[in-house]
Amino acid sequence: MPSSHIIHRTLRSDPPLALRGEGVYLYDETGRAIIDGSGGAAVACLGHGHPKVVAAIKAQLDKLAYAHTSLFSCEPAERLADTLVGHAPGGLTHAWFCSSGSEGNEAALKLARQYFIEIGQPQRTRFIARRQSYHGNTLGALAAGGNAMRRAPYAPILSGAFSHVSPCYPYRERHSGETDAEHVGRLAAELEAEFQRLGPGTVIAFIAETVVGATLGCATALPGYFPAVREVCDRHGALLILDEVMCGMGRTGTMHAWEAEDVAPDIQVVAKGLGGGYQPIGGVLAHRRVVEGLASGSGALAHGHTYQAHPIACAAALAVQEAIAEEGLLENVRRMGALLEARLTERLGNHREVGDIRGRGLFWAVELVRDRATKEPFDPALKLHERVKLEAYARGLACYPMNGTIDGKRGDHAILAPPYTADATQIDMIAERFGDAVEAALASAREG
Ligand code: PMP
Repeated sequence: MPSSHIIHRTLRSDPPLALRGEGVYLYDETGRAIIDGSGGAAVACLGHGHPKVVAAIKAQLDKLAYAHTSLFSCEPAERLADTLVGHAPGGLTHAWFCSSGSEGNEAALKLARQYFIEIGQPQRTRFIARRQSYHGNTLGALAAGGNAMRRAPYAPILSGAFSHVSPCYPYRERHSGETDAEHVGRLAAELEAEFQRLGPGTVIAFIAETVVGATLGCATALPGYFPAVREVCDRHGALLILDEVMCGMGRTGTMHAWEAEDVAPDIQVVAKGLGGGYQPIGGVLAHRRVVEGLASGSGALAHGHTYQAHPIACAAALAVQEAIAEEGLLENVRRMGALLEARLTERLGNHREVGDIRGRGLFWAVELVRDRATKEPFDPALKLHERVKLEAYARGLACYPMNGTIDGKRGDHAILAPPYTADATQIDMIAERFGDAVEAALASAREG
């Protein structure tokens, strides 16, 4: 290959070329097969080259590639919306499609604000989000996010409409001797106090990831956490926005991660697993009452993008969602997820430098620490997460590593998010190679 003219995410080392994908495997320029243990960043939920999706994209391309949404709707977008919200899951009845998770969150924030303008509460101008969260890299989504490292360079140009409370991250945030219920109660009280501080009737919405992805590493909430924060939001007349860009669309074993939390959002954002990486697509799902609020005013969302509800992206996503249903893949996510948990626990559960193994469905992370007793993170300068990535790659595995320095308070972690189509042999292989890679990375980090 000629030298690269692309600005890469990492300028330190040239990434390998992904030339071809088939099933759970990616092939690099040497023809070597790399098992896709994380679907990129939990994106490739059907693996690569799924024939149904490829055929749907080709057929749509032959029919219609583009029509502007201020002039037309299109068949694949209508059918995709019908598939997602035709049965009104949790009262969500309408969908809006864009091209990424960040765009989805931007739209969700603006939809929530517009809703309150339409229903006569324009004094609501504030959002409450959580620390150690990620909602995207565009300025609104970045302002919502609580990833200290990503925010820092842009802090002077981020909106001041967002404040942040603690996430539900019991591994590090639980006080000594605190029960689950007490921990949940403390977090709900903290949220209540933030509503009080901001003043009655000023908050538009509380936004949170149902299962925290990149920033904490597959951190599931404690039982009762989401009902408790929902109650606080309801008391203050604010909306609940759930960002399921990473954890949604079947990744955790139910179509929506909130189905396991005894709560439903007013607005939900989806992306990665929606289109499985076959096309760039994200979406916003809105509750009936939000749409009715809009209908009582202008009736239309005052927000849009040139490529929203793109016919080919929607056709791809529709085929992905149909494949998930036709092939019974949610059941496979639950079964293979249990196997992945068991294998990771067998392999790494007693390791002195493995602090926590957590997740749900096919969404698992391992947090690495210098000493599991003290939970002290490794020195960020050791770049343990990079070492895990490279050791995994050397063993023919792609996993998704994350830096512990995002807030100076966590260990490095790596995420595994295999395709929903993975079988038991492939899950064994992923866990085995991952275990070897973690041990090799830890050994090299100990040497400094
Ligand atoms: N929200 C969450 C929870 C995410 O994980 C991500 C992407 N990692 C985003 C939003 C942003 O999505 P995108 O990269 O597609 O803009």
